[in-house]
Amino acid sequence: MAKIPKPKNSLLFYYGLAILILAIFNWLGKPYLEEEKVKTVDYSTFMEMTEQKSIERIEMDENHIIFKGTDGQKYQTGPMMDPMLVERLKTSGIPFAAEIRETPSFIMSLIVNWILPIIIFFALGQYMSRRMFGGGGGPGNMFSFGKSNAKVFDPSTATIRFSDVAGEDEAKENLSEIVDYLHNPNKYTSIGASMPKGVLLVGPPGTGKTMLAKAVAGEASVPFFSIAGSEFVEMFVGMGASKVRDLFKQAKEKAPCIVFIDEVDAIGQKRHGTVMGNDEREQTLNQLLTEMDGFGGNSGVIILAATNRPDSLDPALLRPGRFDRRVPVELPDLEGREEILKVHAKKIKLTADVDFHTIARMAAGASGAELANIINEGALRAVRSNRSEVCQADLEESVEVVIAGYQKKHRILSDKEKRTVAYHEIGHALVAARQSGSAPVQKITIIPRTSGALGYTMQVEEKDKYLLSREDLENKIATLTGGRAAEDVAFGVITTGAANDIEQATKLARSMISRYGMSDEFGMVALETVTNQYLGGDTTLACSAATQEAIDRQVIALVKKQYETAKGILLENRDALNRLSDYLYEKETITGEEFMQILNQFPADDTPAEKEAVTIEPSEATGEPDDSETIYL
Ligand code: ADP
Repeated sequence: MAKIPKPKNSLLFYYGLAILILAIFNWLGKPYLEEEKVKTVDYSTFMEMTEQKSIERIEMDENHIIFKGTDGQKYQTGPMMDPMLVERLKTSGIPFAAEIRETPSFIMSLIVNWILPIIIFFALGQYMSRRMFGGGGGPGNMFSFGKSNAKVFDPSTATIRFSDVAGEDEAKENLSEIVDYLHNPNKYTSIGASMPKGVLLVGPPGTGKTMLAKAVAGEASVPFFSIAGSEFVEMFVGMGASKVRDLFKQAKEKAPCIVFIDEVDAIGQKRHGTVMGNDEREQTLNQLLTEMDGFGGNSGVIILAATNRPDSLDPALLRPGRFDRRVPVELPDLEGREEILKVHAKKIKLTADVDFHTIARMAAGASGAELANIINEGALRAVRSNRSEVCQADLEESVEVVIAGYQKKHRILSDKEKRTVAYHEIGHALVAARQSGSAPVQKITIIPRTSGALGYTMQVEEKDKYLLSREDLENKIATLTGGRAAEDVAFGVITTGAANDIEQATKLARSMISRYGMSDEFGMVALETVTNQYLGGDTTLACSAATQEAIDRQVIALVKKQYETAKGILLENRDALNRLSDYLYEKETITGEEFMQILNQFPADDTPAEKEAVTIEPSEATGEPDDSETIYL
């Protein structure tokens, strides 16, 4: 089990300092704090008491007369212009004196005036330096300007191997050459070949780029320097550049070794040549370019860098001799997903019914990190239900948690709303089922989720699809519009529930026309280009305003046409729509099989004669019987 790290020593240092300061103040302030209570009286009382000789002793300074009565009480009063006072006191015989304030000793004044301010300034300085330079490195960090704060992993502690990275076979194959070179450089140098100095791992977030880099170091048994691009960028110009210099100096000393720069786009972005550029970032990049040129191809230092924005990198960084090899680390395919699930499932206890193939199919488009999360969510769900093993239902539910968030047990939909959602979801499923080539429906639910979804229809492809025909895409749009169409057909009322469907349908239709060359008017002309492939796929239009208008018109026409198709399908299957929606309304979650079982009672053109009751065993129908006991976070 992982130990919880203890707080750092530096914290103890600060606690100690605070206690010391408190102790000193306490010591200094003690005499004053302990002073007895003094009663303030007027001058006439003082004179009276003097005459009555009811005073033991008098002390005075220019602002106070302090005297102790025979009753033991201390009094004070303000001085008056009373030239006869001394005379009177003398005759009364009461001892009196001008008060002599104790001057602090030499050591005391040394502490208060010199040592204490120095300690306070030093502590403040430490604190500020920690905030400014991002901590790490313990006390003394104030003096480590320009030192790279790369983490260095010793080969003996490296735990990640290629076998831990599931899927990604092409990337592993590509990188195993580097491992081979680090093991046996002579094989390459004897023939005159030189290794690439830099390898750029590109791909969407969470696909295992960092893991692959660590696995290369683990396999090659060489030291591994790891630093994030953003750690170079400092507040002061030139600091990042000196960190780069320091990093390469250290790396050369430890060669053969691997330097891994994560999120390299933080320093490697294109330089724009504007006057108000980011000087610090540009200087850091320049230094990186210079350093990469500065060592020979066979010096034994291999630089791996990862990014999910390769298009934003400076071309100088990508030219041969620097990052001359690019290794794509893509989202895993069906087989890859299954493997990743299995790798992560090794750590947890499973029941025998777990079928990773189904989970992998359900999690289409998930990254390695998401798959790892699915396994963990499944394990947490099993713990919540007090079970000692993770079952298939746990994993299926956790796919849905990752896709749509947790179930919202307490969102109370009105009866009418619930019925509308049921019709909406059945609308999607029915349109999909009545079109050829649509992915089979796996599950339909109208339990609201924390992502804001009031329900959803999960369609799962049998296999990964790499090519989609025009018909496939049109069918997808029709399926997406099916929800709204069902509301319209059933109630003649449309609701806000279709916002997400509308967004997706429009995006698909726009891509068909502007990117996939599927419009008769424009043919094979790229009117839009994708700029941010791995992070959401933003696009920029590259056409005239008039063409934009024409694109908009075609997108609208395409979506409208598919909406009419969907509506037509639902009108033809009106009875099936009603029956299925009622069933879903009652059960809240139904499986694809239940859906098909009911739908198959109706012929494709849906004649009302077929309306006899459909009986389904309750245990079969509920899908996840233990759902209601689960407590969600
Ligand atoms: P990236 O650097 O691409 O953003 P990471 O390498 O940091 O992604 O991966 C994050 C986590 O996701 C890893 O710690 C691992 O648990 C999991 N992961 C990602 N890809 C894989 C894979 N191919 N095989 C096994 N686990 C993976």
